[in-house]
Amino acid sequence: MHIKQITKQLLTLLCLGLFTVTVHAQDNTNHNKFRQLYEELPTPNVYRTAAGAPGHKYYQQRADYDISVRLDDENQRIYGEETITYTNNSPDPLDYIWIQLEQNMRAQHSDTKKISTGSISDRMSFGRLERMHNDFDGGFKIDYVKDDKGKNLPHIVNNTMMRVDPPRAIKPGQSFSFKVKWWYNINDRMEIGGRSGYEYFEKDDNYLYTIAQFYPRMAVYNDVEGWQNKQFLGRGEFALPFGDFNVKITVPSDHLVSATGILQNKKEILPEAKRDLLKKAETAEDPVIIYSQDEAIEREKDKAADTKTWHFKAEDVRDFGFASSRKFIWDAMGVPFGDRVVMAMSFYPKEGNPLWEKYSTEVVAQTLRTYSRHTFDYPYPKAQSINAADIGMEYPMICFNYGRTNEDGTYSERTKYGMIGVIIHEVGHNFFPMIVNSDERQWTWMDEGLNTFLQYLTEQEWERDFPSRRGPAPSIVDYMKGDKDNIMPIMTNSESIYQFGNNAYGKPATALNILRETVMGRELFDYAFKQYAQRWKFKHPTPADFFRTMEDASAVDLDWFWRGWFFTTDHVDQAIDDVKWFRVNTQNPEVEKPLAEKQQEQAPENISTVRDDDMKMVSQTAVEREAELEDFYSNYDPFKVTVLDKQDYDQYLSNLDQEEKELLNAGYNYYEVTIRNDGGLVMPVILKFTYADGSTEVKRIPAEIWRLNDQEVSKVFYTRKELTNIALDPNLEIADTDRDDNYWPKREQPTRFELFKRQSRNSENKMQRARQAEEMDS
Ligand SMILES: [Zn+2]
Repeated sequence: MHIKQITKQLLTLLCLGLFTVTVHAQDNTNHNKFRQLYEELPTPNVYRTAAGAPGHKYYQQRADYDISVRLDDENQRIYGEETITYTNNSPDPLDYIWIQLEQNMRAQHSDTKKISTGSISDRMSFGRLERMHNDFDGGFKIDYVKDDKGKNLPHIVNNTMMRVDPPRAIKPGQSFSFKVKWWYNINDRMEIGGRSGYEYFEKDDNYLYTIAQFYPRMAVYNDVEGWQNKQFLGRGEFALPFGDFNVKITVPSDHLVSATGILQNKKEILPEAKRDLLKKAETAEDPVIIYSQDEAIEREKDKAADTKTWHFKAEDVRDFGFASSRKFIWDAMGVPFGDRVVMAMSFYPKEGNPLWEKYSTEVVAQTLRTYSRHTFDYPYPKAQSINAADIGMEYPMICFNYGRTNEDGTYSERTKYGMIGVIIHEVGHNFFPMIVNSDERQWTWMDEGLNTFLQYLTEQEWERDFPSRRGPAPSIVDYMKGDKDNIMPIMTNSESIYQFGNNAYGKPATALNILRETVMGRELFDYAFKQYAQRWKFKHPTPADFFRTMEDASAVDLDWFWRGWFFTTDHVDQAIDDVKWFRVNTQNPEVEKPLAEKQQEQAPENISTVRDDDMKMVSQTAVEREAELEDFYSNYDPFKVTVLDKQDYDQYLSNLDQEEKELLNAGYNYYEVTIRNDGGLVMPVILKFTYADGSTEVKRIPAEIWRLNDQEVSKVFYTRKELTNIALDPNLEIADTDRDDNYWPKREQPTRFELFKRQSRNSENKMQRARQAEEMDS
């Protein structure tokens, strides 16, 4: 064909719109739900392998900190100085480095404030309007940035990020030390919120400080993002390199301090009796009270004027947090890991008791045990749970958890299980992302999802039928069947996610639980998940590293699963479309002819025949009237078994071998079951058969049954027994959003509806209410 002709034809096709049809057809082939994730995942390289492991040239940066801070309990301020030693292990010379200043989110002109949206409504709480008026003077006030010889370093602050320019590029393998001095106003957590801050107790005029993001921190530089210097807007959390911390914290002398790392000046800080109690706690079977509630109440009363400096050191942590208050009660218990003892500890005010002294430290210990079994032995020397109202927030070795009781010492079931759940969750964060150090600024699900999954396993190990909020498949159904305009794929940046909790916690946790119980099985899943944790502990994994490891270590192709659950907003909805029942025609006239006769007798009658018979409209047919119109066929009995029929049967049998003859006469029932996929997600098909004799059987079919047609599939099952009913997804494991169509025969299960009498009092009737009020006044 000539080129001009081709162009002309193409134009015609375009004009007719036919061209789009061709393109569409091509698109369809690309929409196969089992196609590999080559386009979605980055190409493997020397830093990260196709197997999901760190590559042979994998590197990561390091940041070591020397920090001194003073907590000003009079003005609620932090004053600090630090030396950061940054080591460049990358193959790239670095002309500048980025430092994170998260406190600047609370600065008066922060982007967080500028981009916050809002509206005024007819009814508003004072709190909401107060938050709009909030003029808290937050943010780091940087006094200086100097090199280790005391010379000022050029630097520029861009919102929550600060660029520091070293005198010359930091070459691969080189370290660079510099000093920063700063101070900031601590936020009132109860008034304006925040992951860290203070809580004020009016009754005894005391403060409880939970302090984090309190020092300028190095950003991550790596092979994936370059510098991860995406601004901190408040939701997408943190990306931090590992390092050693040497931290001195000066507080009022009657405060107790809990922090990341090991206390270095125990002898200076703690009386001998308290040190002995801590020693005793190491091998105790139950938590040992180090500082009691009575002691805490005493300290609350007389406030010391002098200060003490607590000195902590921590190795290979990505961050540092601490808590300080004169209200703290302190208990501790050792948790053995081989020949090591990890200290599980809790710090809480009397407002948390009696709930906290009973549960907190025990829950910390159980969390370390369960998580370690699924990942690696908890490597740090301690894990602490701090009581802080209305929050759950994690840092290495320390976390802040809610759970307060009524003054009479009672508490609701919701408070109890909420508190246990949040402690498990926040202590669990030590594993993800504190040790398996993913980039939270980019992907919330990588730590929250994996952590919520293990939280669920831990809750179920803590107490049988623990009321877990997230994890089991049915708990995510309402979210997944919701309005798709209000749902984002899990693989969405932290700042842009709708329905944060469902998206980044609930759905990935459920997905992992389904992988474990339904798609892979516990043995394959647990090995692969552990492999991921082991490969990436004390390193920086990405989503692809997780997806690839889970496949590589299990020989289960999971691209369809990641694609459906993590890259789309599709939901699961399977249905039993049809069930057909077959039996083999034996060809034996003595069996088949009587059956056929019975069938004909039972066949429904045509309406005209019925009416003609009933109303005798045709009293006699022509043939009935005139006998000579009859012939052979008039009285032929097709169901009569003849010698010739038997001969034919013998002939048929003589052509069959033994195996074929057995199959012919085995008496199997064949059921052709048609399953519809009404949702978008392909999932395994799980069918529970109930037979006429009352016995049951579960058939588990891998998701690949949908590989050629993801809308509808048929499958034949054979059995000597007769089926009475089939249930699809009998144990609620695939998050099916509509279960009404999961039964054959369709299940008649009445939904109970409520009847009520109309209440005579109508609070909406303003006139009536005004009259009533008038009567009551007079
Ligand atoms: Zn979390």
